[in-house]
Amino acid sequence: MSDEPPHPCEGMARALADPDIPLVYNDKFREHGIPVQDGGSSVTVLEFCLFCGAELPDSLRDEWFDRLTRLGLDPDSPELPLDMRSGAWWRRTELFIAATPKTTSQGVAGSVGVILGTTKARSATC
Ligand SMILES: [Zn+2]
Repeated sequence: MSDEPPHPCEGMARALADPDIPLVYNDKFREHGIPVQDGGSSVTVLEFCLFCGAELPDSLRDEWFDRLTRLGLDPDSPELPLDMRSGAWWRRTELFIAATPKTTSQGVAGSVGVILGTTKARSATC
């Protein structure tokens, strides 16, 4: 099953393929982001594409943790189903349809949110 990012944009694809550009895509949560350079695993999640300005698909982090709770598992559980370890879980559901790129005329300003651990906070417009 493909783990291609759901945003079909050449600029984003090139940036994600370039190890010198600090941009990541987490298929499990369907998040595009910029790693926070503090030595941890935090990522500043992007809501809009830095290259074409289109709105990126919504993060599925909350849905992933909701499913985990319903299964009675924690994130590091060895019993975690294989499809929950990648984007396979959302690609098989109605959430896949919601991944269709949205077009927008908005710019990049105010387009980022911050993920610290499992708590999501949105930054104010710069
Ligand atoms: Zn784009």
